[in-house]
Amino acid sequence: MGGAPRGTTDTIRRSGYDEDTSRMQTMIPAAIIAKTRDGRELTEAEIRFMIEGMLTGEVADYQMAAWAMAILWRGMTPPETAILTRAMLDSGNRLPRVSDRPRVDKHSTGGLGDKVSLILAPLLACCDLEVPMLSGRGLGITGGTLDKLESYPGMRCDLTIEEINRCLLEVGCVITGTTDDIAPADRRLYALRDVTGTVPSITLITASILSKKLAETLDALVLDVKFGSGALMKELEQARQLASSLQATAAQLHLSTAVTMSSMRQPLGRMVGNACEVNEAVEVLRGGGPQEVRRLVLHLAGQALTMVDPAIDPHEAHRRLAELLDSGQALTRFAKMIELQGGKFTERLAVARPTVVESPHQGWVSAIDGEAVGNAIIELGGGRRRMEDRIDHRVGIELSCRIGDRVEHRQELVRVFCDDANLAARVGNRLLEAIQLSDQPQAADELIVT
Ligand code: URA
Repeated sequence: MGGAPRGTTDTIRRSGYDEDTSRMQTMIPAAIIAKTRDGRELTEAEIRFMIEGMLTGEVADYQMAAWAMAILWRGMTPPETAILTRAMLDSGNRLPRVSDRPRVDKHSTGGLGDKVSLILAPLLACCDLEVPMLSGRGLGITGGTLDKLESYPGMRCDLTIEEINRCLLEVGCVITGTTDDIAPADRRLYALRDVTGTVPSITLITASILSKKLAETLDALVLDVKFGSGALMKELEQARQLASSLQATAAQLHLSTAVTMSSMRQPLGRMVGNACEVNEAVEVLRGGGPQEVRRLVLHLAGQALTMVDPAIDPHEAHRRLAELLDSGQALTRFAKMIELQGGKFTERLAVARPTVVESPHQGWVSAIDGEAVGNAIIELGGGRRRMEDRIDHRVGIELSCRIGDRVEHRQELVRVFCDDANLAARVGNRLLEAIQLSDQPQAADELIVT
């Protein structure tokens, strides 16, 4: 074996790997990619080399994208997944503890219209828990919590560790993104996956979510694992595999988790799109909003509360959480968090001009194609096609029907928020194809599955 190029050897030393002679070999990205492509297990040194190389520039973006695709097709073994997660975690710092309050978080595997984080972080902070939420941007067809929050003018989601600590001390919660300091590997890989069709990989989702959550130094993590056409995992069975991968990897890395499986056979709530979803989240924080959003929030928040205080009666936890929404206390906490992160809070953000789309005939709503709705948001400019794309926070879609509803001919089915009337009409026509009507009554969809 020839001598390793200097840069490569430096990378190995920086990582503190076992430096026995068998590992002192040249790391060649293409060879590592091919190994994953052929289904062979990588060593810790190889996995760490890819993650560190992505950040130093030694591994090019196109090589990372090819590796991500190989991982998507071939998967990784549980030990490889744990090493990948650990390597991504080690790419940055962990948040220090700033108080002795229990520290919790919730993370969803991504779903259309999922605005739960916006409500849950301030709600749990009102229960004297600390919630340092590191979130992501839009990924594939699913929107990102940070993109939603940035609908508030001035809102900053690139906080430093000191700024995060200040928010936690002053309001008990913060929602911000990965940075050069915190889980930088996830930031880079997440952005690449978003635009290279490599999002729905169980290994990559596991490592992405857990590297961020482990960096938060949590006492407990609630995972909302989603399935259906509006989620990254289309089938319940795949979502169950993702849930076990998340729980097994978290356990190996000493993080305690609870899982909820929830349906994304239709978007969560009525609103999809950044500012539209923030407005709907504010309605729920005010005690109103769609029942299914409120139900899921109360369920997940209840799980978080009982994880850190097993003695609490679940009915009492539910009552207390509902009261915090109904009294507006959670909304006040949310507004404080926005202001502390530089945003200008308003109870209703402006959205683009609405175009109403009517039903071409009568029937019962039997299916809503989440993939098509997600792609419609991207087409409107509310999601990204390429890494560097800017998004339009004001565009969105309101679904006026849910699976199981009866609709009449010419009844409003959807509203498209977009200032360009031609684009709104085009997207509206596509949405008509995404909503299936049946001439038989349909059962409503179960939101939470056990
Ligand atoms: N959420 C994340 O943070 N990462 C993923 O890969 C998917 C959902």
